[in-house]
Amino acid sequence: MTRVLLVGPPGAGKGTQAVALSERLAVPHISTGDLFRTHVGNETPLGQEAKRYMDAGELVPDSVTNEMVRERLEEPDAKAGFLLDGFPRNTKQADELGDMLAAQNMQLDAVIELKVSEDQLVERLLARGRSDDTEDVIRRRQQVYREETAPLLEYYANILVTVDGVGEVDEVSQRVVDGLGTQS
Ligand code: ADP
Repeated sequence: MTRVLLVGPPGAGKGTQAVALSERLAVPHISTGDLFRTHVGNETPLGQEAKRYMDAGELVPDSVTNEMVRERLEEPDAKAGFLLDGFPRNTKQADELGDMLAAQNMQLDAVIELKVSEDQLVERLLARGRSDDTEDVIRRRQQVYREETAPLLEYYANILVTVDGVGEVDEVSQRVVDGLGTQS
């Protein structure tokens, strides 16, 4: 059970859970949001392109995102497994991921959905205060999640593990680990 994807609306705690889980599962945490923020920080051409979309709460174009993920998954540490956080974010990216994995005779083992109510999400994000965490941008990101990303729950229905994302960090990680255990 080592090729795992985390899905959840902005503010569901994917990043926090991913860090804890990648340790527990002993696989690298691959976050497209973090990869983009590193590019933005280093002012690379990819970062300059991505920033415009991120600041508006829009998805970065698939062509840019897919290539960045493809390169990351080709790194040696991803061969034995990975925890993907923030990718795929729409069904086209999911098709692309399926192709990338199939080319290496791999497939996803499980998709974890972190479930958190909308009110709690907005509260958490406003408290976090990242540069793309203003109320308008948050609302746009929630809408993009509902329209583009939530269909992944159907797409991955046969390997989906839904976990209640409300509670202490350790409590939620334990639920995920338990969920992965019952799924296999
Ligand atoms: P959150 O977990 O709050 O949604 P992320 O750190 O995952 O935040 O992503 C921040 C921003 O990075 C997104 O709003 C989007 O602009 C961009 N991004 C991240 N992952 C993807 C992706 N798979 N496809 C397109 N854009 C992405």
